[in-house]
Amino acid sequence: VCPTGALTEVDHTTNVLRALADPNKTVVVQTAPAVRAALGEEFGLNAGTLVTGKMVSALRRLGFDKVFDTDFAADLTIMEEGTELLDRLTKHLNGDKEVKLPILTSCCPGWVNFFEMQFPDMIDIPSTARSPQQMFGAIAKTYYADKLNVKRDDLIVVSIMPCLAKKYEAQRDEFKVEDNPDVDFSLSTRELAHLIKEANMDLENMPDEDFDNPLGESTGAGVIFGATGGVIEAATRTAYELHTGKKLDKVDFEQLRGMDGIREAKVDFDGLELNIGIAHGLGNARKMLEDIRDGRSHFHAIEIMACPGGCIGGGGQPLHHGDSSILKKRIDAIYREDSGKKIRKSHENPMIKELYENFLGAPMSEKAHKLLHTHYSDRRPKVKLKEE
Ligand code: SF4
Repeated sequence: VCPTGALTEVDHTTNVLRALADPNKTVVVQTAPAVRAALGEEFGLNAGTLVTGKMVSALRRLGFDKVFDTDFAADLTIMEEGTELLDRLTKHLNGDKEVKLPILTSCCPGWVNFFEMQFPDMIDIPSTARSPQQMFGAIAKTYYADKLNVKRDDLIVVSIMPCLAKKYEAQRDEFKVEDNPDVDFSLSTRELAHLIKEANMDLENMPDEDFDNPLGESTGAGVIFGATGGVIEAATRTAYELHTGKKLDKVDFEQLRGMDGIREAKVDFDGLELNIGIAHGLGNARKMLEDIRDGRSHFHAIEIMACPGGCIGGGGQPLHHGDSSILKKRIDAIYREDSGKKIRKSHENPMIKELYENFLGAPMSEKAHKLLHTHYSDRRPKVKLKEE
C-alpha cells in the first residue's frame, strides 16, 4: 500500500499496451532513479542489485519507441530548484522581508498532497519547481515533440515510478494542456515487473543497453534523487559551484546521507554557512512544518520525502515488509550508480546545457517558469454543513 495517502491507485497497464499497439502513436518511457535499484527483487535478485541496462533493454523489447531517463529531468529540477534556492537566499540575506526561508523541496507528490491538505497556510514556502516526472513530461511534449515533428496528441509519455502518488500527480489539471496530460500514464515498479513477466522475458539475462538521447543523458546527481537526502545533496553540488564560482574538490556530502528520520547538516558555502534539514516520512515532515510555523526552524533549505528512505521505499516498489536492511541495500545501490558516473553534477550534463541553449534560455526564464514550475492550492476537503 502507498504510505503517502495517494488518492487513487489505478493500474494503467492496459492503456499502455493499447498505446504500444497503436501504429499512429509514438510512445516514450521515462524511468525514475529508484526503480533500477529495486526491480531486480521481483525477479529473485538480491536487494541492491542494479539492473539499469537490463531494464532499458526489457523496455525496448516491450515496444517503447524511446527509453529515456527521469534522471535527466532530475538534473533539470536541480537547475531550477538550485537557482530558486540561491535567488531566495540572496534576497533574504539582503534583508528582503517578503522572501521566506527555508525553501522546501517539491519533487515528492505525496508530500505536496500532504502540505496542501494539512498546512495550506504555508503553501508559499515550498519551491515552485515541478517534480522530475512532470518536468520530463513538459519537455517531452514540447521540445522533443517538435524535434520529432509529432503532434502533442500523438506522443504518449509513460513513466515508470516507485510511487503511487505519481499516478495522481500526472492527472492534476496544472499538468495538462487542453485536457492532454504531460504524462499520460504512470506505472509502478511492480507493474513494470508484471509486464516483463507477462512478455516471458528473463530480466537477469537481458543484455545491458543504454538509454536513448537526448532525454536519457544524466549525471550522478540525478540518480541520487532516489534516496533520502539525495535531492538536497544534488542541489548542494550545483548551488555551491554556482554561488562560489569554485569547483568542488569532493562532490560526496556524507553529512547529508543516512537513515535517521530527521537530520541536519551545515554546509560551508565559502564562508556562508548553510543550515540544511532533511526529513523522510510524513510524521517527521509534520514536525519540521510545525517548527517553521512556530518560528523555531533555523534552516535555509529542507528536503522532505513522504516515504521512509525516500523513493527507494515508495509504495510502488517491490514489497519490503518494513525490512530496513532492504532499504539500506537499495540506497547503497543508488550511491554506487552515482559514484560510477563520469559526470556527477547536474549543471555539467551536456544535454541539459543544450536544452537551455536551444530552448529554455536560462533557469527561471519565462519559458522555464511556464513549463517547469507550478503553484499550490488549499486542498482541504470542503465540509458542507447540513442546512437546518
Ligand atoms: Fe513517491 Fe518518492 Fe514521494 Fe514516496 S518519497 S511519495 S515514492 S515521490
